[in-house]
Amino acid sequence: MRRGFLGGTFNPPHLGHVQAAAEAAKELELDALYLIPAGIPPHKELPEGGATGEQRLEMTRLAFDGIPGLQVLDWELRRKGKSYTADTVEALRTEDPEGELWMLCGTDMFETLPDWRRGDWLMRTLRVAPYPRKAGEEERIDALAEAYRREFGTTIRRIGVQPLEVSSTSLRVLLRKGKGAALLPKEVYRFILKNRLYDVRPEPDALWELARPWYKKSRIPHVLGCRETAVNLAERWGADTLDAENAAILHDITKKMPVEEQLQYCEKRGNINFSYRPEYEEALHAFSGAAAAALEFGVSPEVESAVRWHTTGRADMSLLEKIIWLADYIEPNRTTPGVDEIRRLAESDLDEALRRALESSLRHLEENGRTPHPATREALAFLCRGEVDS
Ligand code: ATP
Repeated sequence: MRRGFLGGTFNPPHLGHVQAAAEAAKELELDALYLIPAGIPPHKELPEGGATGEQRLEMTRLAFDGIPGLQVLDWELRRKGKSYTADTVEALRTEDPEGELWMLCGTDMFETLPDWRRGDWLMRTLRVAPYPRKAGEEERIDALAEAYRREFGTTIRRIGVQPLEVSSTSLRVLLRKGKGAALLPKEVYRFILKNRLYDVRPEPDALWELARPWYKKSRIPHVLGCRETAVNLAERWGADTLDAENAAILHDITKKMPVEEQLQYCEKRGNINFSYRPEYEEALHAFSGAAAAALEFGVSPEVESAVRWHTTGRADMSLLEKIIWLADYIEPNRTTPGVDEIRRLAESDLDEALRRALESSLRHLEENGRTPHPATREALAFLCRGEVDS
């Protein structure tokens, strides 16, 4: 049997890993390729407060899911102490002592191989398939390969992969800034968001791709209108534009969900001061949407709160809450009477725009015989009080 393996910390696994592994499996015509997340890597510190071993294992499974012949092994995570490749190779060889065993690695690992624990033995036992991590590393690899062949007699074959210049370290920095999604397999990104790993902030385009299936087709123009308006208002009033964009993308996320399921989200989140009453059914989706935004997409407390209050409003709203409430009310697809005036006001006086919009919304509810949620009256009263006080 011809088998290969790629070890790493996979913190997180990225498209550089996936692309190199898939190409190597093809070029070497491997019968099996193992991905082996390290438990305690001997050569680097795992960053504090990052992903756990189990989470790295799960992300590795998600990253390589669907690639034929690829299998994720948890051996190094289960083994005690540092994860030495020599121990793993020993175990792999026990399974198939006569077969070919190829180790895949990027240039960085290839350069240090003989210095690894039992490096001499590894060099004489393994076949090695190095590949460039950056453009132009091929010559360096070939020169090293020649030296290793001479010294240890190692069988080496360079993989001709087009390098994707990314490392897990640089990715973690990008994720904190609301970037980097395009360098990750979609399901890994979803997992990172859901578990709020690496202090991730959702990247709006990637978040939209994940959130879109939650919406009815007919609601999409509204959500996109709201997204655009929220960004404009955030720029105008100095709010965090990334938070505004993400809150707008998620604000109606549970709107098409049956009430029972919405209530389950509220219960699971456990911090919703809203007891469901049929007369406030319109407001439920804001509370359950906030819960889903936090539980499924790991949004920050500020974004969660903006989603939660986007329908009812509340007393003493944060700037982001005001922006999302208004964006929902004035986005370009809205044709409510008087909306143009509120659009204009939103440019010059945000609180006045909100006050007018709340009044008009309360009037509209009453005209239609519906009971407004108490938080809406409180929102309006708070704004009017501000006026009296000043
Ligand atoms: P870190 O930034 O923590 O060093 P990393 O991105 O180098 O992480 P590891 O999980 O440590 O990722 O690497 C596992 C293996 O994948 C190593 O052999 C490494 O050379 C290789 N590798 C890492 N990044 C890439 C990439 N962009 N393209 C191809 N191979 C890569």
